[in-house]
Amino acid sequence: MKIAVIGCTHAGTFAIKTILAEHPDASVTVYEKNDNISFLSCGIALYLGKQVKDPQGLFYSSPDELKKLGATVKMQHEVTNVDPEAKTIEVTNLSDHQQFEDSYDKLVVTTGSWPVIPPIKGVDNPNVYLCKNWNHAEELFQTAPSKKRIMVIGAGYIGAELAEAYSTTGHEVTLVDGVDRIMSKYFDKEFTDVVEDDYKNHGVTLALDQQVTEISGTDAVTVKTTKGTYETDMVIMCVGFKPNTSLFKGKLDMIENGALITNEYMQTSNPDIYAAGDSVAVHYNPTHSLAYIPLATNAVRQGILVGKNIETPTVKYMGTQSSSGLKLYDRTIVSTGLTMAAAKAKGVKAESVTITDNYRPEFMPSTEPVLMSLVFDPDTRQILGGALMSTYDVSQSANTLSVCIQNQNTIDDLAMVDMLFQPQFDRPFNYLNILGQAAQEQAAKLASKMPVE
Ligand SMILES: Cc1cc2nc3c(=O)[nH]c(=O)nc-3n(C[C@H](O)[C@H](O)[C@H](O)COP(=O)(O)OP(=O)(O)OC[C@H]3O[C@@H](n4cnc5c(N)ncnc54)[C@H](O)[C@@H]3O)c2cc1C
Repeated sequence: MKIAVIGCTHAGTFAIKTILAEHPDASVTVYEKNDNISFLSCGIALYLGKQVKDPQGLFYSSPDELKKLGATVKMQHEVTNVDPEAKTIEVTNLSDHQQFEDSYDKLVVTTGSWPVIPPIKGVDNPNVYLCKNWNHAEELFQTAPSKKRIMVIGAGYIGAELAEAYSTTGHEVTLVDGVDRIMSKYFDKEFTDVVEDDYKNHGVTLALDQQVTEISGTDAVTVKTTKGTYETDMVIMCVGFKPNTSLFKGKLDMIENGALITNEYMQTSNPDIYAAGDSVAVHYNPTHSLAYIPLATNAVRQGILVGKNIETPTVKYMGTQSSSGLKLYDRTIVSTGLTMAAAKAKGVKAESVTITDNYRPEFMPSTEPVLMSLVFDPDTRQILGGALMSTYDVSQSANTLSVCIQNQNTIDDLAMVDMLFQPQFDRPFNYLNILGQAAQEQAAKLASKMPVE
């Protein structure tokens, strides 16, 4: 079996390793247009914030490792055309510009995504940077020390992490977003209000509810928005990602933004072409619909499934809750599934409850409050989403809620499910049980039409 893989960051690396482990006779050739593989972009902000000392630790594989496993690795080679009928690809060697053709029995599309660059006047200004791959990271690592004022456009989780990192290293930071709240896709207002205060307390200027209209200037950069004018030394564009799938336009089925549609075995609309990672649409379990959620969590799982299913479709993809987490200043802030705002926007019938409780008893030498919310279907009582925030590490609780959504558990399941009790960690009921019980009370009030707090 002759397999060609296009793109080798997370989905590609995991697909190749699994193919070679499970199908040792397969001939695997990987084409990667960059000069490196497996870079963990999540480490960029951690390095800028001086938490990670050596950025080389952000790579977990290498072309040499894949070669040793048996792959033919063509670095700095870009696939420029695919003919699914003839099962051929056209390739350009970017170091000598030689072009050639290759054939395949099975093709793996792990071409990932690229930052969205909005059509803003002056967006091609040399002081505008992107934040996606190792090349961008190196530029940011070299530039940041010489720049005092930094503007981050886009307050999603990447922009939020960069703004936090720069604000802890003596930079004057402005965080801009077109929506009136930061991280509005991931967290409801009760959460983002607290984090917005943290930013302000660390000197970050929040320029929310305004669109950037123009970027100009050479040394000092002037950024005009619909609400004001800001001076900065550099701009980092973080407004989202789009799938790298132009090679397949008109050849494979896609959703509106170009993400490839796959079945549960990661086969595209052409069964000999598999795809995984940021180039594909995911099955979003809370709404049972296709969605574009570019996360490494999805990329590595789907990459493995490509490897397992490449010969015979056998192992199904479980879908995703889009679970994600951040540590901003000293707060852990995590979410899974739908927020209440997202449920409303998608027309999903949902109710939510938000409570604060200490994670362990007050008789202990210390405890910390946990802000928690749960989104649920009032008819089926199924859990659709949840979020937690605390200076205590509540990250694994989002994973527990993720399992609940995956398994279609109800608020009643969460209220009473067995969880350990020991005063070091929690009360006789874990704080997630208490969140489930609060949702039950909320549901009862709604059913009896009592006023809901
Ligand atoms: C700053 C940042 C922080 C992040 N933090 C997190 C996090 O904390 N948690 C999380 O789950 N996710 C995080 N993500 C998202 C995560 O990095 C992506 O979901 C992940 O990189 C997707 O992997 P991928 O292999 O599908 O695609 P990509 O990483 O986009 O890689 C695709 C590869 O394909 C190559 N390629 C594309 N087209 C061609 C072609 N025609 N020929 C040859 N090669 C080609 C590209 O050069 C690239 O190497 C973060 C992303 C960023 C940018």
